Amino acid sequence: MDLQILPITEPKPPIKDENELVFGKQFTDRMLVMEYDRDKGWHSARIEPYGPLTLDPAAMVLHYSQEIFEGLKAFRRPDGSIAMFRPADNVARFNRSAERMCMPEVDEKFFLDAMLKLIELESDWVPHSAGTSLYIRPTMIATEPMLGVRPADQYLCYVILCPVSAYYKGGIAPVKIWISDYYVRATQGGTGEAKTGGNYAASLYAAKEAAENGYDQVLWLDAKEKRFVEEVGSMNMLFLYDGKIVTSPLKGTVLDGITRRSVLTLVKEMGYEVEERALSVDEILEGATNGRLEEAFGTGTAVVISPVGSFCYKDQTVQLGDGNTGKLTMELYNKLTAIQYGQEEDPHNWITMV
Ligand SMILES: *Cc1c(COP(=O)(O)O)cnc(C)c1O
Repeated sequence: MDLQILPITEPKPPIKDENELVFGKQFTDRMLVMEYDRDKGWHSARIEPYGPLTLDPAAMVLHYSQEIFEGLKAFRRPDGSIAMFRPADNVARFNRSAERMCMPEVDEKFFLDAMLKLIELESDWVPHSAGTSLYIRPTMIATEPMLGVRPADQYLCYVILCPVSAYYKGGIAPVKIWISDYYVRATQGGTGEAKTGGNYAASLYAAKEAAENGYDQVLWLDAKEKRFVEEVGSMNMLFLYDGKIVTSPLKGTVLDGITRRSVLTLVKEMGYEVEERALSVDEILEGATNGRLEEAFGTGTAVVISPVGSFCYKDQTVQLGDGNTGKLTMELYNKLTAIQYGQEEDPHNWITMV
């Protein structure tokens, strides 16, 4: 398949204040688009001006939520070059999500190369200030106009780019976590391990409840016993418990996070033992009180690492340590971001230069 590059007619003004960028609100001038038809396969790949899509009101995505997405970042290096973090892993996961949602897979090499071309064309939009990045959002939707529940015959795949300011403006800061004792995100056999919009739509109600109670994020427990930690919002959860790193295993209900994967590699190198097992709510509540649970943090592309200051479960609130960012959490944040911004070696070949 060829990649067509169309000219932009009305370029937007460049970024004024890089620290004023609101996550997910400002997009660059171009987007990557390709279309799928059951008979033709993927076709009409092009980089075109960013703009609204034309969709039939009967487009199946609007009725039955056949949709998947990804999230990854590109980073500006001190020498002006642009680095992406493990992009091939995101493309591979995009295809795993596609399979789960009965959507067509993309050619991983073509898609990654096209994405790199898009970023190259939009390189002026990759911000320069410390901690900033370009957030990349690949998406696929079912476009066939048809009211009926079955996999669609037509799809649109696109990639949009979003310059973002540093996530932590006043330095890394701990969040307050609400443990949901009623609502669940994913069940065994459900779509929890796919990055699909429906999982997020289903999570909004519990997030609203958490916010009303003054909490930042929801921690999801397993659907069966409502006892074991699965993940938090759009982050995997890791704990420093009894001196070991504990995180939920990937058994169908938890998303296989690329930041999680990277952190597990780093902690093993630092000499920590890793236990992929589900920590229980009791272990959190008791562990925070008796000191066995020293640190807890979420991992995800947007935040990189998000330290947890306190947990609330039913009527009980516990604080972790002194409520500040833990030592290991801070170390991991510094190490991972140093690799991303090129201040440290990349021994694992996680970086792809644009
Ligand atoms: C995207 C996502 C994550 C984090 O994955 P990364 O690859 O580290 O960004 C974790 N949980 C859920 C539910 C997600 O959608």
